[in-house]
Amino acid sequence: MKVIVADSINQKGIDNLKEVAEIIVDTNISPEELVDTIGQYEAIIVRSRTKVTREVIERADKLKIIARAGVGVDNVDVEAATEKGIMVVNAPESTSITVAEHTLGMMLTAVRKIAIADKSVKENKWEKTRFMGVELRNKTLGVVGMGRIGSQVVSRCKAFEMDAIVYDPYLPKKVAKQMGVELDDLETVLKKADVITIHVPLTPETKHLISNKEIDIMKDDAFIVNCARGGIIDEEALYNALSNDKLGGAALDVYEEEPPKNSKLLTLDNIVVTPHIAASTKEAQRDAAIIVANEVIEVIKGGTPKNVLNMPVVDQKTYEKMKPYVKLSKKLGSFVSQSITGQIKELEIVYCGELSENPNQNILTRTILQGVLNPVLNDPVNMINAPTIAKERGITITEGKTCNSKGYDSTIKIRASSDNDEVSLEGTDLYESKVIKINNYWVDVKPEGHMFIAKYNDIPGAIGTIGTKLGERNINIGIMQVGRDIAGGRAIMILTVDQKVPSDVLEEVKNLDNVFDAVGLEL
Ligand code: NAD
Repeated sequence: MKVIVADSINQKGIDNLKEVAEIIVDTNISPEELVDTIGQYEAIIVRSRTKVTREVIERADKLKIIARAGVGVDNVDVEAATEKGIMVVNAPESTSITVAEHTLGMMLTAVRKIAIADKSVKENKWEKTRFMGVELRNKTLGVVGMGRIGSQVVSRCKAFEMDAIVYDPYLPKKVAKQMGVELDDLETVLKKADVITIHVPLTPETKHLISNKEIDIMKDDAFIVNCARGGIIDEEALYNALSNDKLGGAALDVYEEEPPKNSKLLTLDNIVVTPHIAASTKEAQRDAAIIVANEVIEVIKGGTPKNVLNMPVVDQKTYEKMKPYVKLSKKLGSFVSQSITGQIKELEIVYCGELSENPNQNILTRTILQGVLNPVLNDPVNMINAPTIAKERGITITEGKTCNSKGYDSTIKIRASSDNDEVSLEGTDLYESKVIKINNYWVDVKPEGHMFIAKYNDIPGAIGTIGTKLGERNINIGIMQVGRDIAGGRAIMILTVDQKVPSDVLEEVKNLDNVFDAVGLEL
């Protein structure tokens, strides 16, 4: 595997990679050179300098993974990578401790007025009474967003003997309990907290999450810290509050506009500011390099990295448990795609039994789509680009679940329809993938190898005629299954044969009396 490291990253990451791949370190590579050479690489590692644009991605025919040694991926066109089936990974956990420590630093600086006191002493002043502060001990910390960073801030604040209350509507109560914090609504958190710290992503929901109304609820001597993203606090509202002594103080590492231009906030003494450096430590950079190098190594070894941004990821143990159903999903997708006439327009997937409770069904749906699309497309479809390609091809996907799995632990049902055909399948895993129902016929079929399906009228001799036709062309039948709705009604024959059934043989079978369809499948 050939890997390009296009921005300077910590040497430890490069050393780890060198053990398993050919590494080209070119940290001065120009955008034009990258477009010209990207075709030879299977992995690229960048930090912030290199932009992995759509133009680069379109030329990246061998690329499997784009690794950003940091948190944000603003310099990577994730959409273009997804369309091309390339994984994008980052190292979100690399900065958690670093940002949490900076948050603590900002908190202490704000409550003890360290920055302005420092400035005053350097101006040869000695204003001992001007900088009266408050302790953190016994104060209430209000945490907005209890993810990687929020939780690290909480555990550090416990050392300062602070109580923590948390607003995070996405955090299950049970998890909060395990973390030793109390969950509450935003209003209560803002009302009770002496120090509020923000650790949510910037989303339409969190834009100006803290504005006039929220500041009004806070204690008049409360402090607020934002080391998350600019725009979560409404800066106009914050300025009005700070300049009217509605708040004790604030500390910001991030701004609505970066760098802040002509911001009135910067004229105030009761605010501490840093230039978006909460994540900037040697350790965070080292860890980011090591984390993404390990992600690339995982891909080299054929595994799945854990921080993939454009694909659902499960841990190894969960994946091992799901593996038989992943295999079944691919088979069912491929089976349905090869046995239907015309282009699939609608795909209905139902997870039954234990699988109906599985939170990772998305992985199975992506695998089914992979199975559906691969037989009909030239370019390989993978778990990453399967949903995008299905959408581009106008396939409407409906997913459902039911606890009824007809005595099996789990089954997967698929119904596909095109303009002129409809196929439904149901499969399960019984130590191996099994198809248990095709359309309305109960069967027991192992979806593997060269297969042949014929639909015909259930009359005496029909099976023999079809078998004879295959025999005439020297096609040996390994396993035969037949099913019918009612005696003398419509029937289906599923064969496992020793070689691919050529298309002219399929045509000949279709032309037989009483046969109304015949397809060959490669599974
Ligand atoms: P995370 O994804 O681990 O945690 C985010 C938490 O916010 C989650 O628990 C989520 O449930 C919660 N959340 C999401 N929407 C919410 C909402 N509307 N209300 C309340 N809670 C909500 O993220 P993280 O790694 O802890 O990062 C937190 C923030 O820090 C992000 O904005 C990230 O961009 C920022 N960050 C800043 C720097 C910096 O240099 N200043 C560096 C790294 C991360």
